[in-house]
Amino acid sequence: MVLSPQIDSIVFDLDGTLYTCQKLADRIFELAVQRVAESRGIALVEAKKLVVGAQERIADLQECPATLTQTCQELGIPPKELHQILQNDLHPELYLDHDPVLLALLESLAEICNLYIYTNNNLPTARKILALLGVDHLFSRLFTIEMNWSPKPDPEGLTEVLQQIGGPSDSFLFVGDRHAVDLEPAEVLGIDTLLVDDVSDLLQIHQYLGLIP
Ligand SMILES: [Mg+2]
Repeated sequence: MVLSPQIDSIVFDLDGTLYTCQKLADRIFELAVQRVAESRGIALVEAKKLVVGAQERIADLQECPATLTQTCQELGIPPKELHQILQNDLHPELYLDHDPVLLALLESLAEICNLYIYTNNNLPTARKILALLGVDHLFSRLFTIEMNWSPKPDPEGLTEVLQQIGGPSDSFLFVGDRHAVDLEPAEVLGIDTLLVDDVSDLLQIHQYLGLIP
């Protein structure tokens, strides 16, 4: 008989993990491009080329996809500035709604584990998104970009998250949609991880915990 792992804390990425919404992702990209255009006094089309080029350069260097926060940083837009724009001008309420499937999946996990968010998003936007999805009440704590303004993947930020939650490495499970960003740093520390592509993939957690066959 295979024993189910004793997980106390599940740490979720937010965007692309608890919901997928191309329109919201496109809007975030558009706001970043607008800011790059303003800061350099160039046309949007030129700014878009710069952002895409920087993303490709960073991805080649680090051998994994660049996050938007990283890309903007490379182009001289500090994370604080980018996230101030997202707080002001991003309206997730236009794109997201209650997700009863997500709620049911997370409710059953919250009965047996503490649930956390660790995201490159900012706190006001993360709170708003979780409330729109109808699952904000299920999380013990949100770790957001404000923690140290250093986007994932960030081994120091990860260490801080683990210390603040507490517990041995085998009491954690990390869940995310980007292996290099959300999961790899945790794997290096011996933490179990699950890569998801869609909300329905979250059922893998229930399988992993032995809640369903
Ligand atoms: Mg994500």
